[in-house]
Amino acid sequence: MSDPIISKILCPKCGSSTTFIERDYATKERILSCFMCGMRAYGDIEIQKILLPQIEAAKEKQLKRVQRLCSWKDCNKDNGSRRNARTNSKYCSRDCSNKNARYRYLERKKIGG
Ligand SMILES: [Zn+2]
Ligand SMILES: [Zn+2]
Repeated sequence: MSDPIISKILCPKCGSSTTFIERDYATKERILSCFMCGMRAYGDIEIQKILLPQIEAAKEKQLKRVQRLCSWKDCNKDNGSRRNARTNSKYCSRDCSNKNARYRYLERKKIGG
């Protein structure tokens, strides 16, 4: 239940992070409650349903933060290995962009005959 990627479960109703998990003593089920709006989700399945999309979103955010590498397969601009792509570009340089375009063009010609 304690996924390190998100610190707080956001309430699916009001979006507030003032949620807390308690345990129903009778059923031993976990209950996710929201201070703000009083939303309650009973049981792990219901809680997972709320939690999973939030984990996915957090993961996606994390991925976006990670630098992407130049999309040109033979890029060697970083001392012989692939360099990070520039922001707003799939490539690290105009050069790599051109090389990739040329490669794709030749590939297409090959397939097309
Ligand atoms: Zn709420
Ligand atoms: Zn490159």
